Amino acid sequence: MVDFQLDDEYQELSDTVREFADEVVAPVSQRHDEEHSFPYEIVAQMGDLGLFGLPFPEEYGGMGGDYFALALALEQLGRVDQSVAITLEAGVSLGAMPVYRFGTKKQKETWLPDLAAGRSLAGFGLTEPEAGSDAGGTKTYARLQDSAEGREWVINGAKEFITNSGTDITKFVTVTAVTGTEQRDDGTARKEISTIIVPSGTPGFRAERPYNKVGWNASDTHPLSFKDARVPEENLLGVRGRGYANFLSILDEGRIAIAALATGAAQGCVDLSVKYAKERSAFGTAIGKYQAIQFKIARMKARAHTARLAYYDAAARMLAGKPFKTEAAIAKMVAGEAAMDNARDATQVFGGYGFINEFTVARHYRDSKILEVGEGTTEVQLMLIARELGL
Ligand SMILES: Cc1cc2nc3c(=O)[nH]c(=O)nc-3n(C[C@H](O)[C@H](O)[C@H](O)COP(=O)(O)OP(=O)(O)OC[C@H]3O[C@@H](n4cnc5c(N)ncnc54)[C@H](O)[C@@H]3O)c2cc1C
Repeated sequence: MVDFQLDDEYQELSDTVREFADEVVAPVSQRHDEEHSFPYEIVAQMGDLGLFGLPFPEEYGGMGGDYFALALALEQLGRVDQSVAITLEAGVSLGAMPVYRFGTKKQKETWLPDLAAGRSLAGFGLTEPEAGSDAGGTKTYARLQDSAEGREWVINGAKEFITNSGTDITKFVTVTAVTGTEQRDDGTARKEISTIIVPSGTPGFRAERPYNKVGWNASDTHPLSFKDARVPEENLLGVRGRGYANFLSILDEGRIAIAALATGAAQGCVDLSVKYAKERSAFGTAIGKYQAIQFKIARMKARAHTARLAYYDAAARMLAGKPFKTEAAIAKMVAGEAAMDNARDATQVFGGYGFINEFTVARHYRDSKILEVGEGTTEVQLMLIARELGL
């Protein structure tokens, strides 16, 4: 009735990405983390492997796979390098997916082939300085104006914390903006929020200085500013007024992807701890012989396993066309907490070395915190689950 075994094709993909993560990504992770440098060479190789095109059809340069394939790849990358994994996750599920789901044929043909090949990246601009969890509080606004070139959106406002928005290969950011007011049937009015594609280099649009983050140091994150930034009317993505709803549906899917990344991080902490517990001795015996250490690692294993089952279930529902919003929220919350808890326990297993940055568990400790915040905080996931319970 229930089968969580990977079929041959998924297993092969997972094995291929695992090998790539261990042999190509891991050796340069520490350097990029320390230098806060974006791993362009890894992005290019992930592009060659087809990872950026996994869930897109071949007609747009994709691999013809599905979202679960993307999740499996993210789990394997998340094990060794969360910065690389989030670059892929945001590139596919936040950068390219809105164009694929809601774009016109022309928009897809213009943007998707390069995004699916990893030759370019795009950002997803929802969060604002004063609108994060409550992203409907968007203040950025866009007005349609006539100009010599035809009708244009004139955009003003700011976005906060936007991933992949300022790399050398970033081609555009899709932003939510207030485009007017909608009258409701009950006579009240509410903001009309739409999504608009803003190409990099548009005058008036700037990716500001990158943040100095606690973790995910090799990923690209910027505040964005818009001062009379003008783009053609046809840069509207999807139906006018549906922008917020469309972005929320992108986030539902994205939570499965983030859960997979977090599962990988949780699993990476298990693998590193098992190895270290066998090698490290204290009081004349391997620390792995002490039940206190065994139980700690056994609990870590249970967390990673539970997180994996949760994202497999959410992905299976999504692929079957069933409702999956709640299961995606559960997976995101469980996996994010598993990653953070496992990172804390793994650093404890490593003792003082767990506090030294050149040890991967230390990087997981810094990187994992954001998994309880990004793409919806733990509290937001709980709100979604409670809402489904009718509370
Ligand atoms: C590295 C990084 C990358 C990111 N990438 C992107 C990106 O690519 N695109 C994008 O749009 N955003 C991105 N974000 C933004 C991220 O999604 C937000 O930070 C997150 O949604 C939380 O919003 P906030 O920071 O405004 O926190 P707030 O919404 O201000 O929340 C603060 C605290 O209050 C809690 N809280 C809020 N409302 C409630 C409530 N009703 N009940 C209980 N608790 C509540 C929150 O859970 C949190 O603990 C990124 C953030 C980071 C740090």
